Amino acid sequence: MPELKNRNGIDYFENVDFKQIVAYSGNPNIVCGECLENLLFENDLILIPILNEVYCNKCGTKRLRDMKHYSEDDEVQARRTKFWNDYLIKGKISNY
Ligand SMILES: [Zn+2]
Repeated sequence: MPELKNRNGIDYFENVDFKQIVAYSGNPNIVCGECLENLLFENDLILIPILNEVYCNKCGTKRLRDMKHYSEDDEVQARRTKFWNDYLIKGKISNY
């Protein structure tokens, strides 16, 4: 089950199952936004709303460690986090 977390001001979801991303994107060949590895059958993906990107657990963890928080991004982040929270956790597609 995906969980919404925050690290240094950056929202992220962990434990995202590949099936949810495939179902959302309609693309059966999803890849990590960093290493481009195929993410099929992974269930510990990391999704970072402000980047609108999904990563394998290893790259997502590293990415979160390297990212800086910019308060100018807070509004966009809040909107994207709500969108992904509605989809990943509540199971519905909301308006962007
Ligand atoms: Zn990766």
